[in-house]
Amino acid sequence: MTKSRAETQSQKKNGQKAVVIGAGIVGVNIALALQDKGYDVTILDRGEPGMGASFGNAGGIAVSKCAPIAMPGTLMNVPGWLMDPLGPLSVRWSYLPKMLPWLLRFVAASSKSRVEQIATEIAVLLNRAWEDYDPVIARAGLSDAVFKKEGAIAVYRSEASRRDAEYEIDLNRRNGIKIRDLTKDEVLDLEPGIAPIFSCGVLDEDWGRVLDPYKIVKGIYQHFLDRGGEFKTADVTDFVYRDGKPRAAMTSTGDQITFDVVVVACGAWSKSLAKRLGSPVPLDTERGYNTTVPYHDAKLSRMLICADDGFVLTPLEHGIRVGGAVELGGLVAAPNYERAKALFAKGKEILPKLNAEGGTEWMGFRPSMPDSKPVISKSPRHSNTFFAFGHGHLGLTMAATTGRLISDLVAGNQPPVDMTPYRINRFSDFTGF
Ligand SMILES: Cc1cc2nc3c(=O)[nH]c(=O)nc-3n(C[C@H](O)[C@H](O)[C@H](O)COP(=O)(O)OP(=O)(O)OC[C@H]3O[C@@H](n4cnc5c(N)ncnc54)[C@H](O)[C@@H]3O)c2cc1C
Repeated sequence: MTKSRAETQSQKKNGQKAVVIGAGIVGVNIALALQDKGYDVTILDRGEPGMGASFGNAGGIAVSKCAPIAMPGTLMNVPGWLMDPLGPLSVRWSYLPKMLPWLLRFVAASSKSRVEQIATEIAVLLNRAWEDYDPVIARAGLSDAVFKKEGAIAVYRSEASRRDAEYEIDLNRRNGIKIRDLTKDEVLDLEPGIAPIFSCGVLDEDWGRVLDPYKIVKGIYQHFLDRGGEFKTADVTDFVYRDGKPRAAMTSTGDQITFDVVVVACGAWSKSLAKRLGSPVPLDTERGYNTTVPYHDAKLSRMLICADDGFVLTPLEHGIRVGGAVELGGLVAAPNYERAKALFAKGKEILPKLNAEGGTEWMGFRPSMPDSKPVISKSPRHSNTFFAFGHGHLGLTMAATTGRLISDLVAGNQPPVDMTPYRINRFSDFTGF
């Protein structure tokens, strides 16, 4: 294929070698954006590209979700959620002490004044999501795999639960997000396959979805390779310093991979590498579960958010994905697929024709900061070191924007938004654990 003049120019090499650690949706977007800036880019991952959280997520381009996870009423709801074995939150109690520093900061982030500010700062990224994704999707030949702005419907089991959500909906509206209230009949007109067991809904108009999240990572990754990018299998454990700066990634097999510039984009596993680079950060994980089943006779035409129970149903290329919820349990404990089964059972209440036959269960590690904002940041210590992780529930949605912003930071250009809210050292009291 003949390259356009603009593309040839943008790929002109600048003689600098950039290493991106992590081949999830965030890492591949960064790698592509750095190629555009003329860097010679190598992605390192200890496994196959796209097999982390980016593999099996719900596939939502959730541009309407600026409300953080820690909300003013969240703490009050926790006891009730924990009492319900099928509820939206579960905890591995043995992990809880290790998570305390994260939990304390999570609670602090739930005050009304913090929530108002955080929502605005998340909205800044979400409002750019389509603008930044569209060119990446088009260039990678993925346009047919993305449903743009078809909307997602949140359903509420009672008028009372809709009233409980009013603050969050109002917060979203005040941040420019288009939301339309729907009566029960309007919901059923849009989604006739769902059971009439809820009282109303809202339509998040700008929301979109992908046909298969894994396909998107792999497509962008393949485009990166086609443009001359390199991939190496490497489990990065530390860094080699020269003249006070990190200059090479050290791997578990003792190899050293040199770079001029490094970006840590290891999702939920980024904490130890950030600490090695002198930037301790209170990153943890919210584990999530889902089940993907063939369509059989079930019909769904857009994402459905079950607001009371904290899970979603997404129509994908190969079936319907049912899941979500949060399990606080760290990176090591084995999955408890009873969670996936419980969410599937709730999904079947909403979509009675769901059929578990031929289904697959999955668990993924959301990379979560206590304030629900990602880290998109230059290192305060090293001029050649950058961080991009902590996208929580919105990593698929924010990945192209993260790539764009990190590439500006790396190239020394002025990013189009104020980057202060996303800096790595915003929890300056945190010294690591
Ligand atoms: C159930 C669930 C549903 C979700 N639904 C949505 C949704 O609808 N919309 C949305 O926007 N987001 C959603 N998310 C969130 C989204 O999946 C994540 O935020 C996103 O995938 C994070 O991408 P990432 O590239 O940062 O991390 P990952 O995809 O986890 O990639 C990190 C990579 O780093 C590699 N790595 C780690 N440590 C090292 C090391 N030391 N050396 C080398 N490589 C290393 C890993 O092998 C992995 O490949 C969901 C998440 C879950 C769990």
